[in-house]
Amino acid sequence: MISKKMTELVKGSSVIRAMFEEGRRLAAEYGAENVYDFSLGNPNVPAPKAVSEAIIDILKTKDPLYVHGYMSNAGFPEVRRAVADSLNERFGTSFSEENVIMSVGAASGLNVIFKTLLDPGDEVITFAPYFGEYRNYVSNYDGVLNAISPDTSSFQPNLKELSERISEKTKAVLINSPNNPTGAVYSEETIKELGRILEQKQKEYNKPIYLITDEPYRELVYGDVQVPFVTKYYRNTIVGYSFSKSLSLPGERIGYLVIPSELDDYKAVFAAAGVATRILGYVNAPSLIQLAVSECLNETTDIGYYERNRNTLYNGLTELGFSCQRPEGAFYLFMKTPEEDDASFCDRAKKYNILTVPGSSFGCPGYTRIAYCVSYETVVNSLPKFRLLAQEYGL
Ligand code: PLP
Repeated sequence: MISKKMTELVKGSSVIRAMFEEGRRLAAEYGAENVYDFSLGNPNVPAPKAVSEAIIDILKTKDPLYVHGYMSNAGFPEVRRAVADSLNERFGTSFSEENVIMSVGAASGLNVIFKTLLDPGDEVITFAPYFGEYRNYVSNYDGVLNAISPDTSSFQPNLKELSERISEKTKAVLINSPNNPTGAVYSEETIKELGRILEQKQKEYNKPIYLITDEPYRELVYGDVQVPFVTKYYRNTIVGYSFSKSLSLPGERIGYLVIPSELDDYKAVFAAAGVATRILGYVNAPSLIQLAVSECLNETTDIGYYERNRNTLYNGLTELGFSCQRPEGAFYLFMKTPEEDDASFCDRAKKYNILTVPGSSFGCPGYTRIAYCVSYETVVNSLPKFRLLAQEYGL
């Protein structure tokens, strides 16, 4: 018999699992080229060649005892140093290896930091719409995730409501920019104001309130959009990063946490995050891919590929009469559903073999997320189907 807690979690994850199964079923029935599966954030751009070249070179030239052995829970010191140097060069920060912990993707980085910070009943505040797994990551440590209602005019965080909702119980605020599911990028003004509110609340409650910034899409921005580096704006910031999207390596499970020296209780937090990495069972991030990414810190994915998809999809859908947020980053488009019931809209879309995720899964009903990290042909060929769907709604 499985635990009561897992029974609830299994029930809760059935929507996404059902969608995954549905995609496979439709592809088997109609042929993959006739299914427009926009449900998953799995990059369709291959990893840069430099990654496989680095892996081959490491395997050929380095001592296998070094490449495959146990190491410090925080990861190889030289890899952490390379990450710190790269951040310093790009953002004018002054990190060292003592500020970086290699993680098993963003998911483990967040779990490690919540394990490190949360006591039962502690509250983490985030902004709707948000990546649905946050709820599980926080509840893994008996914390409580509270979501601020969405500002659907811009999908910037609703800071007025944040300042009203922070309480004695608030241990951390969790943000994600560029954002999944909206593609919004939080502006410098927003980050400054957020930092100002948190400083004030720390004083009011006389305790640290940590700002955790989940950034798997940091480099995935279009045109001249800038993503502010948050540690420069608020002292108690912890950064979670992943190479899953920026280098198209989601299956390799590799990322890192940045824990700046200025953080309140820095030494204890850094040490505890290392212990959390071990006792959660990750032990350390996988060794070979750590070494490989440290050789590829200046590589980027083909952003032009996603930008072409973004432009074609956004222009196509708005011309059909759908109302969409124009994504500035990541590879998701958040579209208002022409009926209030987003799940019912997604069901209707399925009739045309279009798969998208209801906004309710991200705490924002009345919308749907379209993940356009798919082939360009899928985007182009989906538009006549979206046209039929638009006609059903009289758009
Ligand atoms: N955070 C956000 C906002 C995401 O969109 C994802 C994955 O889609 C993750 C975290 C988890 O990423 P990873 O594969 O690096 O664990």
